[in-house]
Amino acid sequence: MGLADTRSMTDIARNLLTIRARIKSAAQNPAKVGLIAVSKGQGAEKIALALAAGQKTFGENRVQEAKAKFTALRAAHKGLGLHLIGPLQTNKALEAVQLFDVIETLDRPRLAEALMKAVEKTGRKLEFFIEINIGAEPQKAGIAPEELGSFLQFCRAQCGLNVTGLMCIPPHGRDPAPFFKRMKELADRFSLPRLSMGMSGDFEEAIRQGATDVRVGTAIFGNREN
Ligand SMILES: *Cc1c(COP(=O)(O)O)cnc(C)c1O
Repeated sequence: MGLADTRSMTDIARNLLTIRARIKSAAQNPAKVGLIAVSKGQGAEKIALALAAGQKTFGENRVQEAKAKFTALRAAHKGLGLHLIGPLQTNKALEAVQLFDVIETLDRPRLAEALMKAVEKTGRKLEFFIEINIGAEPQKAGIAPEELGSFLQFCRAQCGLNVTGLMCIPPHGRDPAPFFKRMKELADRFSLPRLSMGMSGDFEEAIRQGATDVRVGTAIFGNREN
C-alpha cells in the first residue's frame, strides 16, 4: 500500500499495518504468527477502530475490565478471540472461562483445579498456556522451567485442561533473546505448539526465536489511559 492510501487511515489502522509488515519480515512462516492486540487500559473507541481495521484477537489482563469492554463486542463480532494475559485469581476462574478463548496465565495447581470446575460447568472449549517464570524472578508469576513436566501432567491428567502452549514475560531491562530461546526449547521438549512471547519492544526478536503469539499493546494503541 502506498503513502497516498495510508494517509486517510486512522492511526490505529496504520499502526496495525506496520506491525503486520514487521511480523511478516521477522517470521519464517508469517501465517504461523498471531498478533494479539493488547487493549488493557484502552477505551472502547480504540478497540472499535482496531476491529474496523481487521484485527480479531485481543488481549486483556483483568477479568472485570475485559468483561465490561468485550461482552457486547463478542456477541456482535464473529471470530473475535480474547486472551487473558494477566494473573487470574481462583475466585474469578468461572468468569474467565465464560469470557476468554485462551487463558495464558495458568501458573499453579489450585488455579488448574478451579479452571477444571469452570470448564466442566460451562462446557466451553478453550485453550490454556502455562506461564513460565523464565527469569526466575521472585516477584513474578509463572512456574519454574524444572517444574513444567509435572505441572503439565497435572493440568492434563488430573484436570483435563487443554494445554497447548507456553507464555512468558522475560526480565525487564535485559536482553530477552536468551530467555526467548529457552522458552522455545521448553515448548519443543514438551511438544507444545504455541508460544506466547514478545511485546511492543521485542516482538520481532521473539518471532525470530519461535513465538507463535505476540502480545502488542502500545505500538498499536498508543499510551494506555490507566
Ligand atoms: C501490557 C502487556 C503486554 C503489552 O505490552 P506493550 O508494551 O504495551 O506492547 C503484553 N503482555 C502482557 C502480559 C502485558 O501485561
